Amino acid sequence: MRHRTPLPTDVHQISLPTPYPVGRSNSFLIEGDPPVLVDCGVKGSRATGELEAELALLGVRLEDLGAILLTHPHYDHAGAAVSIARRVGVPVFGHENGLDYEFRGREAFYLALERYGAPGSLVGTLRALNEQGERFGDQLVELERLELLDHGDRFSMGGADLGVLHTPGHNAAHLCFVDGDRGSLFCGDLLLSGITPNPLPHFDPEARRGRRSSLALYLRSLDLVEELGPLVGLAGHGRPLSDTAAAARKARRQIDRRTEDVLALCGEHLGETLFRLASRLFGEESPLGEALAFTEVLAHADRLEDQGRIQVDHDRGVVVWVGDPGFAAAT
Ligand SMILES: [Zn+2]
Repeated sequence: MRHRTPLPTDVHQISLPTPYPVGRSNSFLIEGDPPVLVDCGVKGSRATGELEAELALLGVRLEDLGAILLTHPHYDHAGAAVSIARRVGVPVFGHENGLDYEFRGREAFYLALERYGAPGSLVGTLRALNEQGERFGDQLVELERLELLDHGDRFSMGGADLGVLHTPGHNAAHLCFVDGDRGSLFCGDLLLSGITPNPLPHFDPEARRGRRSSLALYLRSLDLVEELGPLVGLAGHGRPLSDTAAAARKARRQIDRRTEDVLALCGEHLGETLFRLASRLFGEESPLGEALAFTEVLAHADRLEDQGRIQVDHDRGVVVWVGDPGFAAAT
């Protein structure tokens, strides 16, 4: 039998269906008076119905909840927040950056795809997919009110007494919640068993290249989590992690390896667009797969450029210079 990391006895993992390749996403109920829910899955009767059925087994109705805390506003974790809040009036807590999720980001993302070499047909397909995908979530701006949480805050209610960490990298609004009493960390998609999250671009017109370096932010978030020492990680997908500090170190090693892979690829195919390089590295064929491969390579290219190891012509979307990988790695 496979070893399973035990959850605290009064915290319950509820895994909910999503329409995404990642599979189910996890919500967590923290028992108490009132009970508190961390993340709430995609919108729709199937996922929310499963959530209600699981809560009922624990003797909890949606209207009993004192709060819904959101690790980040992606639909697989927060898509149902607006509809549940409207139905039962429960307050929703999250990071301020979640309020403009998708609005600024989506158009900037399409522009970036085109600029770095994606065919126009792919952008058209993604637009259509995004429109269809709207049925799986509402954007947090549609809430009457989002209760804001930020780095260093404390959230105390019922059986929950949580420290708040702002942990951007996968998403600019990403939060982790430290449960010191139970020795656990609600880590959303920051740390996942077996995979590292996609460092999706954090578009920001004020920032260099029009986006913040999502990998630099992600690596800093890993540092924050590592500094907490070993905790049980209650992750947004899959099984709990036995040691979040070790998982953070492992994620960092995986990212460093991927950066070296992207560097080598740039050297072998100098002058190719980042989109083409992503196709070479991942060979993805579905439109969503191609888009995620691109964001992964874009993030590593930004990191390599920040390190002075490559140069990208951002108007043409191509890598124009690559330093000697051996030399750069040695210094
Ligand atoms: Zn997720």
